[in-house]
Amino acid sequence: MQQDPSCIFCKIIAGEIPSHKIYEDKNYLAFLDIHPISRGHTLVIPKNHSTDLLHATPNERKGLLEIVAKIAPAIMKSVGAKGFNVGINTGKESGQDVFHTHVHIIPRSTRDGLKSWENMPSKTHDLAEIARNIAQNL
Ligand code: 5GP
Ligand code: ZN
Repeated sequence: MQQDPSCIFCKIIAGEIPSHKIYEDKNYLAFLDIHPISRGHTLVIPKNHSTDLLHATPNERKGLLEIVAKIAPAIMKSVGAKGFNVGINTGKESGQDVFHTHVHIIPRSTRDGLKSWENMPSKTHDLAEIARNIAQNL
């Protein structure tokens, strides 16, 4: 199990920084976000330190989503939410601040005032070119 002594989430795992834990097993921990976007906003992390989704192991990536599915119903029930967003910021340009892989579970309700991302208009030939480029880079 990798740990980074300078990592804030590794310190939470080690119990050096307090947190409001809602789920824990051998490999994963879920706790409330200290600056919630909505009531019940939860972070799910692998206990093994990696900087982001692309550096987590394939098993951790699968395991994280399994934990999300396991705990999201209880989170929604507890805060009276009817849905939730899952967010995985990857890279500082995406808004990632803590470089220990984590998944945000953000409970949502009708008229909770949170804004979704805005869609842009697109041209079919742009989409075709982007899709072709991505496929070539896989
Ligand atoms: P990011 O922007 O990296 O995807 O999200 C990191 C999240 O971690 C933020 O929403 C922030 O509020 C949360 N966070 C940062 N430090 C702490 C902490 O010490 N305790 C808890 N519970 N959450 C934290
Ligand atoms: Zn860490």
